[in-house]
Amino acid sequence: MGETQKQLIERAESVLLHTYNRYQIVLDHGEGMYLYDMEGKKYLDFYAGIAVHALGHNYPGLNDAIKAQLDKLVHTSNYYYNRPATEAAEKLTRISHMDRVFFTNSGTEAIEGAIKMARKYAYRKDGSTDHEIIAMNHSFHGRTMGALSVTGNPHYQEAFRPLIGGVRFAEFNDLDSVKALVTEKTCAVLLEPVQGEGGIYPAQEGFLKGLRQLCDEKDILLIFDEIQCGMGRTGEMFAWQRYGVEPDIMTVAKALGCGLPVGAFLCKEKAAALEAGDHGSTYGGNPLVCAAASKILDIFQEDHILEHVREAGAYLWDQLEGLKERHENIVDHRGVGLIQGLEFAQPAGPIIQRAMDNGVILISAGANTIRFLPPLIVEKEHIDEMIRILEESLEPSLA
Ligand SMILES: *Cc1c(COP(=O)(O)O)cnc(C)c1O
Repeated sequence: MGETQKQLIERAESVLLHTYNRYQIVLDHGEGMYLYDMEGKKYLDFYAGIAVHALGHNYPGLNDAIKAQLDKLVHTSNYYYNRPATEAAEKLTRISHMDRVFFTNSGTEAIEGAIKMARKYAYRKDGSTDHEIIAMNHSFHGRTMGALSVTGNPHYQEAFRPLIGGVRFAEFNDLDSVKALVTEKTCAVLLEPVQGEGGIYPAQEGFLKGLRQLCDEKDILLIFDEIQCGMGRTGEMFAWQRYGVEPDIMTVAKALGCGLPVGAFLCKEKAAALEAGDHGSTYGGNPLVCAAASKILDIFQEDHILEHVREAGAYLWDQLEGLKERHENIVDHRGVGLIQGLEFAQPAGPIIQRAMDNGVILISAGANTIRFLPPLIVEKEHIDEMIRILEESLEPSLA
């Protein structure tokens, strides 16, 4: 006499704020590359909780590491030191070549910290309080007021004005459009090395190199948002490592905790302008989430996740290219590693819905693009299965 899925959805809709138009399923549990709904229906996971579940579900050893910390100590506040945060920070700085870490609870909060750090850096130089940040059109950096203010999507911003001041928007991959906005007041240039939410657009190498040079010349901080494209998704630990263009500040979140809420902003020593009293977080970097992050970083290394992403990403690329050749309504294919997108001539929503009905979970990025963000442990057989189901789902069934 168990409750049906439909009943649970009705209960949810009666109490949760309706900020999402949710798919009509209740996800109940996961194993490896698969998710199961309340009725036991099995889905191939090709969205990884929006690039969060890098290691899929129930990865060997990860849950045990989390449970061990759970039984030991969950929280301390940042008034005291703890071992998991120290170890996670050591590992993160080592793999990113950054010098310092501040742990947050989410991606948007990491962006807030990065903005504050850039402003403080410039303030220390000239004492003025009207510094500007250059961000990109079609970017996404989060939903809190600072992050929303640097998100180049007027639709997300409009009702929430006034936003924080001093933000200018340039065109992604157009260095001249950035140069045209630089003034004496510019303190930072902020961008995603691969735009995620905006439709899966990788930066061009010349653009990033040009930005690095521009920022060096003018003593402007270069901030990379690696929240979606980082943590191995492109086949490098961080997307900027593919280009050899190092930021002064970078943000991570999503896959850092593989589902436990942890993000971070990191910086080079030179940019470490925030001092005691300037910033804080009650939970940020608590022992539980940092034990997860620390273990995840070990697993990435020990189990050669990056090598696997390069191989699986190349295979996914070839299969999606094949699909594109077979279907005229697929107009573009973009991305790298295991962050790829297929753009259709029409809205992707109905295709995603049919694919879900047929057993694979995909998400969109913008109206016409399907985004492929599988767990990084995806194997060729899963890619084949996804392609087969997606192809079946491209046209409405005639049956
Ligand atoms: C998801 C995302 C964010 C926001 O992260 P939240 O944890 O949802 O606050 C910021 N930047 C990028 C690039 C993202 O993909």
